[in-house]
Amino acid sequence: MGPGVQDPRARQPSGGRGHQPSGPQRRLLLVLPCPRGDADPGALPRAAAALLRGVRGRPGRLRTHHPRQGRHRPGGAGGVQRGLAENRARYCHERNLAVNPQGGNTGMVGGSVPVFDEIILSTALMNQVISFHGVSGILVCQAGCILEELSRYVEERDFIMPLDLGAKGSCHIGGNVATNAGGLRFLRYGSLHGTVLGLEVVLADGTVLNCLTSLRKDNTGYDLKQLFIGSEGTLGVITAVSILCPPKPRAVNVAFLGCPGFAEVLQTFSTCKGMLGEILSAFEFMDAECMQLVGHHLGLVSPVQESPFYVLIETSGSRAGHDAEKLSSFLEHVLDFGLVTDGTLATDQRRVKMLWALRERITEALSRDGCVYKYDISLPVERLYDLVSDLRARLGPQAKHVVGYGHLGDGNLHLNVTAEAFSASLLGALEPYVYEWTAGQQGSVSAEHGLGFKKKDVLSYSKPPAALQLMQQLKALLDPKGILNPYKTLPARA
Ligand SMILES: Cc1cc2nc3c(=O)[nH]c(=O)nc-3n(C[C@H](O)[C@H](O)[C@H](O)COP(=O)(O)OP(=O)(O)OC[C@H]3O[C@@H](n4cnc5c(N)ncnc54)[C@H](O)[C@@H]3O)c2cc1C
Repeated sequence: MGPGVQDPRARQPSGGRGHQPSGPQRRLLLVLPCPRGDADPGALPRAAAALLRGVRGRPGRLRTHHPRQGRHRPGGAGGVQRGLAENRARYCHERNLAVNPQGGNTGMVGGSVPVFDEIILSTALMNQVISFHGVSGILVCQAGCILEELSRYVEERDFIMPLDLGAKGSCHIGGNVATNAGGLRFLRYGSLHGTVLGLEVVLADGTVLNCLTSLRKDNTGYDLKQLFIGSEGTLGVITAVSILCPPKPRAVNVAFLGCPGFAEVLQTFSTCKGMLGEILSAFEFMDAECMQLVGHHLGLVSPVQESPFYVLIETSGSRAGHDAEKLSSFLEHVLDFGLVTDGTLATDQRRVKMLWALRERITEALSRDGCVYKYDISLPVERLYDLVSDLRARLGPQAKHVVGYGHLGDGNLHLNVTAEAFSASLLGALEPYVYEWTAGQQGSVSAEHGLGFKKKDVLSYSKPPAALQLMQQLKALLDPKGILNPYKTLPARA
């Protein structure tokens, strides 16, 4: 188990959380079933750990009388998968067994990792596209489809997925919806709360909630799907998703620029919004330490001269000539005004990918640097970097690196601290300081990663008591026995 993991036997029973480990489920149990024959023993630790993210459960085996024991990866064709998920949920509900829905297991906060006595319900075999409409761009697919495979599928049909993330090669669309993932296209295409049109969800008692509509407009009653977007597997198991895909842009350009200070990063962003307007699709930033880490651990080379900050700007439009013209007058402007000291531009796919890798592979470089303390926070954009500078001074030599990068266009900072080893004193210097600092700016302690297991107890820094209480009430209504991801997202006590 990772730092901070508490054994359930040490926990007090909590009012609204029905599930309490008892009897044979008292130790940590895990079933990672295999579609054919016995479970692959090597798969157990993988499924029980979010290795990059510092939460690891202790794999075990569930012993029950169930004839299909060890097969909790619903697979097959058509509605069979949904039916199996439904049966699994009903089976677990009747026997008061805790269930941990799991997609690609790339989550950053331990939500997909069984920490005590949960059974993994993996969506890995629910990987079929159900339909795609070439006029509307509406894709309907099963929850276990891998994001990158969906991207490839819709790109072949001249569309793109409305979201993109560094973990696209492993994460599932069901996991993306369950975490309300933001990612690299948020600035342009917005939140999954807007692009997801419908969901099919299996509730805790096995009831199938079929809200898998493909309608753009539907104001009939409460919009129930919104409850499950970002609910991290605590309210239901998402089995299928209907999502609106934008048309594939004909021209994509990426500029990678060096800035002399954070004030210049902000001015570059304002100028960029004004001059690039409708074609701007991403505005990402990273500091000099991030660049050093991707260079040192991954051998990636900076395409521009060394600078205190770097920004990556992506444009996506329909006319290459028009976009190139806009971009070059923007670049001329920011260079003339000293907002940018050096820059490079990519229009061909290979170079575009190369520049994106510098930003997308920071997480990987950090994980190679040592033990990582991760924070994913929303702040007013003008204060975005202050916390990083503040922490560098506060932590001194206790930390190996304190770095800041993220989706500047969305006001989302990824603040990461690396150290040689986990230390209680370093953690004590970071928490609750980081959360208090964020709350002091009316920020969010989780911008896009969710709360999972690691951050569930800090929810109150970003939500008032009445909101927490309502969340507990919704949980009790939808999952009265508290079997769905019981140790995640909500604090044990309101
Ligand atoms: C390199 C890297 C880059 C990343 N970049 C970003 C980024 O830019 N933006 C961002 O938002 N995140 C990012 N992430 C975090 C992560 O990829 C996202 O949170 C992703 O959406 C998780 O999807 P998953 O399928 O891996 O879900 P998992 O990790 O398997 O699960 C995450 C949570 O969702 C629940 N869940 C999974 N599937 C279902 C389902 N079908 N029904 C109900 N609940 C379910 C789980 O119980 C868990 O609580 C990144 C991660 C990595 C490793």
